[in-house]
Amino acid sequence: MEKSEVNDKLKILLVEDNELNQKFAIAVIRRLGYSYELAENGLIGLNKFKEGNFDLILMDIQMPEMNGIEATVAIRQHEKNNKVQNPIPIVAVTAFAMDQDKRNCMEAGMSDFLTKPYKPYDLELKIKNFFP
Ligand code: MN
Repeated sequence: MEKSEVNDKLKILLVEDNELNQKFAIAVIRRLGYSYELAENGLIGLNKFKEGNFDLILMDIQMPEMNGIEATVAIRQHEKNNKVQNPIPIVAVTAFAMDQDKRNCMEAGMSDFLTKPYKPYDLELKIKNFFP
């Protein structure tokens, strides 16, 4: 299978509560030819992750019900409990860009960090970094 074919089949779980941010990310994901599912908060994201077969998660931090840090910790715990060999890449997408914020994300088990606002190409690079 060609690499591009693999990329075409990427399924992204977008966990984001803000409508404008949702629309922007979805536009980028669509333009790249990936499929996606939207979760409006961390709790929905956690449940969708458990049900679905995703390749990568884009995770907002500030959300109602369950924030991105809590959701990531729960996802990593779920992977651990199920002895998952290849943990899913989780990219934090957040306006919080202080060093401490990044540390918090990494300590929660996130794989990478993208600062909002971002350009479409920034998101493309972050995704392709995991699926070259
Ligand atoms: Mn938010």
